[in-house]
Amino acid sequence: MAPIFWFMRRSRVRAPIDLAAFGDGLAVHSSRDVSWRGDEVVCRGPRPAACLACGSTGTEETLVVHAHGFLERQLITVRRGQVVRVRLKKQRWRCYRCGRTSHSRPPDELPRVKACTLCVVVFLHAVLVFAGLGWAMGLPALCGNLISSRTVVRWRQRALVLAAATEEAIRKAVEKRARLEPGESHLGRGLSPPEWLLRRPWHQPGKVSGLWCGIQFLLTAHQTLSVGCADILAQARGLTGTASFLL
Ligand SMILES: [Zn+2]
Repeated sequence: MAPIFWFMRRSRVRAPIDLAAFGDGLAVHSSRDVSWRGDEVVCRGPRPAACLACGSTGTEETLVVHAHGFLERQLITVRRGQVVRVRLKKQRWRCYRCGRTSHSRPPDELPRVKACTLCVVVFLHAVLVFAGLGWAMGLPALCGNLISSRTVVRWRQRALVLAAATEEAIRKAVEKRARLEPGESHLGRGLSPPEWLLRRPWHQPGKVSGLWCGIQFLLTAHQTLSVGCADILAQARGLTGTASFLL
C-alpha cells in the first residue's frame, strides 16, 4: 500500500481532539478563592490556620499568618477550546513570628509542571488517541509551540507510572459527585480502550489501559453530570491527599 493511502487509512478514524469537550482549566474553586481577571488567574486562599514553618497559630483576631503580596508564574491551561499561557497570581503568606513565607496554590497546579492538570490530561489524551501517528496530529499547531515533544514524552512516562492511582482517584471523585447529582448517569459504558491501542507495543499495556479508562471516565462524567473536567480533577487530587497525582 502506498504510504499516503496507508496514512489516510490509519488517520481517517481519528478526529482531531476537541479541546472544548474538556471545558476550561483552572476552574473557579470557591474553597480556594480562585478567580479569573481578564487573562490572569488569582488564587487567594485559604489563609493557613498555622505557620507551616514554626507552627504558630495565634487567635481568630490576631492570626499569625498574614497576606504578603503575590507570587506570580506563567501556567499553560485550556480556555475556550484553546491551549493558552496565562499569568497565575498566588497569594503569599508571611508569619509574624518567624518571618517565613508560604503561598496558596490552586488544586490545578502541580509542583514543577508548566501546565495545569487539565492541560496535561488533554496532551495525554492526544498521546493515546494518536498513538502511532504522534500526539501533534491531534492538537492545534500552536500546542507544539507551548509544550515540547520532550515534555510530552516525560509526562507520558510519569503518567503511566501513576495510571492506576489516577484512574482510581478520578473514579472515586466521579462517584462522589454522581451521588450529589440526582438523575441518571451512564458512567460505566464505553470506557475500555480500543483494541488497536492495546495491540501497540507498549511496555505495560495494563497501565495504558488504566490511563485511557481514567480519561474516558473524566470525559463521560463531564458530559453526563455537567461537571467541569477541571473540577473533577481537583476533587480527585484532593482524594489522593499528599500522594502524587497524575504526574
Ligand atoms: Zn512561623
